[in-house]
Amino acid sequence: MEAVGELFEAVTARARDAAAELRDMREKRNGIRAQLAECSVVTKQLDALQSRVAELRQHFDGASASARSYADWKREEKTTEWVEVATPHHNTLCQTHLTQRGPCHEECQLDFVARSANGLTPEHHAAHFLRCACLKTHARCEACGCGPSSHFHARVKYEARTRSVFSILEDMRSQHEGKTEEARVAGVALTDAQQDAAVVQSAIAANQLRLRELCEGLKSQCKYFNFVDEVEAVLHAMEADASTHRDASVRLEARARVRELRLLFTALSAQAAAGAAPALAPPTGAGDAVLGDGRRNAPPPPPLAATQSKRQQHDTPLEADFTRCIVS
Ligand SMILES: [Zn+2]
Ligand SMILES: [Zn+2]
Ligand SMILES: [Zn+2]
Repeated sequence: MEAVGELFEAVTARARDAAAELRDMREKRNGIRAQLAECSVVTKQLDALQSRVAELRQHFDGASASARSYADWKREEKTTEWVEVATPHHNTLCQTHLTQRGPCHEECQLDFVARSANGLTPEHHAAHFLRCACLKTHARCEACGCGPSSHFHARVKYEARTRSVFSILEDMRSQHEGKTEEARVAGVALTDAQQDAAVVQSAIAANQLRLRELCEGLKSQCKYFNFVDEVEAVLHAMEADASTHRDASVRLEARARVRELRLLFTALSAQAAAGAAPALAPPTGAGDAVLGDGRRNAPPPPPLAATQSKRQQHDTPLEADFTRCIVS
């Protein structure tokens, strides 16, 4: 009686372990489905964000270019004015060109003769200045071109001073300020959207990693599990989704992801198919004879349509793969 009890205990424990393992495998399978669903959702989010990033970048670039085109709202104009500067000595100046140039002869050594001519006759006045350094060579002033009569002495000289005058174009200034602010706001929004997109990209990377972990885990527990049959419909939907993405890079990446996933699932299922071959060997029937061409005995796996139709013909629930793993 005691031996029967132990046997009963052993059988019960075995059944408990098997049930727990089945549950674990189902959880992994559900996890794979959930991760694939999440992948689609997150990729759509990324598409929306990347489209927004593109719109914001365009807005930012446009506003920045516009702000630059209005940047010249402050016009600088230089004006020259002649200012009188007192000097300790006397200089020869020309009354015709008094405020248009410097002295014709600075620090003249001739006797001082003012503009009012000090009682000199015009002839004496002219004769006096013909001896000045600026006139004595050609009787015409080398500095200003005038004759001696227009020249006189003074203890001042005129110096050119350049002044900058800024004229402000109010309309351009307000456009410049408006566009600069618009570019700043768009720039902040662009940075935010780029950061959001980076977060979503990390979520996709984590999702793909988790997906692979679950697949590897499930494969190690159940070598007969056929991943291709399980996920093909989902991959097909993901492929269709990928074509609808607005952002070109998101579209390309989504397609590449589906391709990689399909390769992964096909590779895993090839091993499953190889491992499952003896159990799945077709017993009888014309349909089986057509499909029972030994392709399941070795990788590469059969084309998908064949796998699916085989699945339908045998009406094998996916759970059967798990059960076979438990009992084998
Ligand atoms: Zn002189
Ligand atoms: Zn002169
Ligand atoms: Zn002159």
